[in-house]
This record gives sequence, structure tokens and C-alpha cells, in this order.
Amino acid sequence: TTVSVEHALAGKLPVGGEVTVRGWVRTRRDSKAGLSFVNVSDGSCFAPIQVVAPASLSNYESEVKRLTAGCAVVCTGTLAQSQGQGQAFEIQAESIEVVGWVDDPETYPIQPKAHSLEFLREVAHLRPRTNLFGAVTRIRDCLAKAVHRYFHEQSYFWISTPIITTSDAEGAGQMFRVSTLDLANLPLGEDGAVDFGQDFFGKETFLTVSGQLNVEAYCLALSRVYTFGPTFRAEHSNTSRHLAEFWMVEPEIAFADLAEDARVAEEFLKYLFRAVLHERGDDMAFIAQRVQPDAIARLEAFVNAPFERISYTEAVALLQRSGQKFEFPVEWGLDLQTEHERWLTEVHVGRPVVVTDYPEHIKAFYMRLNDDGRTVAAMDVLAPGIGEIIGGSQREERLDVLDKRMAQFGLDPAHYQWYRDFRRYGTVPHAGFGLGFERLVVYTCGLANIRDAIPYPRAPGHAEF
Ligand code: ATP
Ligand code: MG
Ligand code: MG
Ligand code: MG
Repeated sequence: TTVSVEHALAGKLPVGGEVTVRGWVRTRRDSKAGLSFVNVSDGSCFAPIQVVAPASLSNYESEVKRLTAGCAVVCTGTLAQSQGQGQAFEIQAESIEVVGWVDDPETYPIQPKAHSLEFLREVAHLRPRTNLFGAVTRIRDCLAKAVHRYFHEQSYFWISTPIITTSDAEGAGQMFRVSTLDLANLPLGEDGAVDFGQDFFGKETFLTVSGQLNVEAYCLALSRVYTFGPTFRAEHSNTSRHLAEFWMVEPEIAFADLAEDARVAEEFLKYLFRAVLHERGDDMAFIAQRVQPDAIARLEAFVNAPFERISYTEAVALLQRSGQKFEFPVEWGLDLQTEHERWLTEVHVGRPVVVTDYPEHIKAFYMRLNDDGRTVAAMDVLAPGIGEIIGGSQREERLDVLDKRMAQFGLDPAHYQWYRDFRRYGTVPHAGFGLGFERLVVYTCGLANIRDAIPYPRAPGHAEF
């Protein structure tokens, strides 16, 4: 029977039975006893399986002894208890078929050693073959499936939201323009230069920065919904926490206020980390060994500690009284910077913090104005080591207040008639948040750079593969 490496190692197959595994060679070494040990990985789990090749194999000298890292093989043999330490099972090979050779073993980029992350970003198409990116990829998958599972269990519906849009949900002017240029037939302008017409069937459109406005419409009919898809931001900052293309999880809940929003965010994050701890133990153990020594303890602490809740106004006072020298100023009315967020979580409380009620002029127009008239019912969830991973709010459900805020932000109500409609037809309080999925992966794996948290990072200078 052909099985995955994970299945072969799981201890559920009869010892002495015949199995076939298919995958790629990690390492190979010869023993003095005239055997070759070939470690084969198919990515199904962290560990490769050891395939013991006896010299009696017909292609032993001609092929098996020429195998190098990266070669693709199909190995058939007897499942046996392993003598070596570390692994319970191995395969005593009866045949090893080489399906794909590695052209130039000396220059194959993924050698069996620890590579620098900078180097691996240059070979993003080959890095999934490393232990590290195999682990990160499986953890990312575990988190994504747990996202859908949590919402399924809590009776939310998944909604896809458009990628091409005209509305700047965040009002931050960070939208990439969609171009419909026909590259084979470039239009020329009056001056004879290429006319970079940037329209969508005659209409100027952009890539979405958030699915929120769209998902609100569905929440006001199906009560609990979420979107989970790619979003795009023309961030000028070239930071280790921002990507030009990232995935966002955005739940939206009808009849909910900010307190309920924060409760859901906390329960949701803890659910996700519990899933990783239960399902990806081997991968997390490797992360702890290679990237972040306390990776597992950090997640356990996160799952067990209640989040701290403080208002923005309190946070500013705490930062001002901290005696800490910050690069950016701390002043009521200015947004918190990463260094401030990290001080609050790491130094002040030592666990995740939910900061609420930000000044209205530094948050998006759709957030609900508080009774003080100066703050909005917004929240940011801050995690130790990274800062903001979630931004959320209660939405402004009162049409007159929404109109005033749109005017204040210089937004044209004509563009938002559809959004105003929800406030005209059976409006109710509602709330939601956006979780940056790669920030979640960064936090889970203790990565230093968000470009290592997504298969193909899109950032200034990185779009070719
Ligand atoms: P930041 O302050 O870090 O720039 P933001 O406040 O602009 O984030 P929001 O509009 O609140 O971001 O988006 C919701 C979440 O999406 C953020 O909490 C963060 O986790 C994530 N996020 C925002 N921008 C990016 C980006 N460029 N790359 C990756 N994740 C991002
Ligand atoms: Mg931002
Ligand atoms: Mg922010
Ligand atoms: Mg935010």
C-alpha cells in the first residue's frame, strides 16, 4: 500500500507489512555494513522516514548511491521497528525507483544544512523543501483550518468579498490601482508615449484593503458572518510587519457591541493557538529549537491568561509615566506605534492587551462615535513581541452620525449610498474585527519577518514568483 510518511510513522500499520512511500531525499549516508540510509520526506509531517537500502538492490551502485538531497523517489519495502534513536519505524527497502534527479547536486540551493532566512527569500519557490518552511507551512494550514472550524462551530457563515472595488474602506489612501492595460496592444497617448489607462471597463478601480464594508451588509441579514481572503495595501513602509498582499480574517456580528467584539477576539485567538498546540506538536518543537526557544510556552501562556483591557487614554498615560525613551512621541491624539504597543504588552502587563476607545480622528470613518464625542468604540489587540495583530470596532449604526463622520473625513456620500442603506433599513448595533493572518503566523512561529509567514511575499521588489 502507498502511504504518506506521516501514516507510515504513526504506528498504525502492521510491522512486517509492505509499504510504499513517495517523496524527496533529504539526506543519504552509507554505512560500513554495505547499506545506504536514505531519509525521505513527503512534507506530510515534520519527520522524514528512514529508508534502509541494502547493497542487493539491483540499482544500488548505479542509482541509490548517487542519490542526493532533492531527488524524487518511490520506495517500497517492509515496515520495520527502527534500531536507531529518534524514530520508531523505518522501511527496509526492496526497491527504490528514482523518479526525478537533481541536475547539479553541488549547486542545488537547498542543501541539508540551516540556511539564512534572507537567502531562502531569494528562492521562495524552493524554500518549502526546508524543515523550517515545511513547519511554517503546516502551522499556517492548521491555523487557517482552525479559523474556519471556529466560525463553523459558532454558527457564522463564510462570505467572499470582492477583490476589485472602488471603495477605500480604511480611508487611508493605500490602494493599488487596477490596470486593464492590454500589454500586446499598448495604447499611445498624444505625446506618443504609452498611455497607462488605469480603468476597469471605463471605471477607476482598486484592489481591496479590507472586506469589511461588504461583510457588514451580510451580517445585517445573516447575523454572524466572516470573510477570509487576500487584501492589498500600498504601504510605503518597508517594515518586517507589513506586506503589500496579506490575508485577513474579518468576522462581523449583528447586535454586538465592542465588549462582545473583544470577547470573541480573545476566545477566537485562544482557539487557534490551542489547535496548533494540539495538532502541530512536532512542528512547534522544531520552531522552538530553531527559531524561538520559548515558542510553545508563549502559546500556552497566551491560551491561559486573560487578556488585559485598557483604554487608549489610560495607555497614553501609562506610556508617558513609564520613564521609557521612545523614538516616536506619546501624546493623546497620536496613534500608538509598534514600540509603544510592545512596551504595553511586554513590559507593562506581560500578556496580550486589548486597547479600546481611540481618538476618533485617527480611526476609520465607520467606527462608532462614543458619547464623549472625542473617541470611537475601537479596539486593537496587541500581542507581546509583535504589537497589533487585530484591529476592530463597533460600527456606527446611526445614519446622521455616520454622515457627519464621512463629511469630516472628506468622503463623498455618493460613493457610499449602498453602505448608508444598511443604516436606513433596519439598522442595528454591530461590531467586528480584522485579524492579520500573517501577523498571526509570525506570532505563532516567533518569526522576525512577516515575509517568512506567507508562501510568496509581496513587498517592494518582490513580485516575480
Ligand atoms: P498597522 O498599524 O500595523 O499598520 P493597521 O492598523 O493599518 O495596522 P488594520 O487596518 O487595523 O491595520 O487591519 C487589520 C489587521 O490587518 C491589523 O491588525 C494587522 O494584523 C493586519 N495588517 C494591516 N496591514 C498589514 C500589512 N500591510 N501586512 C500584513 N498585515 C497587515
Ligand atoms: Mg497600517
Ligand atoms: Mg494600527
Ligand atoms: Mg488597526
